[in-house]
Amino acid sequence: MKLLKSVFLSLLFVFFIGILLPQSLHIPVKGASVHDWHHNTFWYEPWGTSGVHKGIDIFGKKGTDVLSASSGVVLFAGQVSKGGKVVAILGPKWRIHYYAHLQSYAVHQGQWLKSGELMGTLGDTGNAKGKPAHVHYSILSLIPLPWLATLETQGWKKMFYLDPSKVLVE
Ligand SMILES: [Zn+2]
Repeated sequence: MKLLKSVFLSLLFVFFIGILLPQSLHIPVKGASVHDWHHNTFWYEPWGTSGVHKGIDIFGKKGTDVLSASSGVVLFAGQVSKGGKVVAILGPKWRIHYYAHLQSYAVHQGQWLKSGELMGTLGDTGNAKGKPAHVHYSILSLIPLPWLATLETQGWKKMFYLDPSKVLVE
């Protein structure tokens, strides 16, 4: 019983640390400004096999440094079919920051990154092949935010996918 209680208290502690970590966000492409993505492409449809676009695409020159938008720990850095070379970072507030179509990544699983730290380079891997180089950036909240759900296509998923445009300028 005592053990369970201390495990529970530690988990609670970790959970609140996750919530309370300060969040300072950085536009994840070196030198990019708010003009380097289209502000109406979040939840744009139709969007390939995903149905709706659950992120934003920040454009730039191939090979430009891609920087971590948030501080956090690298959950995954590797190759997937649609995303190509991708990096996923668990940041403050239990949010996963996902970056896709990288030309290369320079981080490994378990690594701690500060906001604005180099993570890889801009590319066109995965299903971005042949399109202008960009990073697909999504923010996924592990804690559901039900007040953000809508009646749009897949609108209930808005409990989990935040609009990076809004979060970046928060
Ligand atoms: Zn995209």
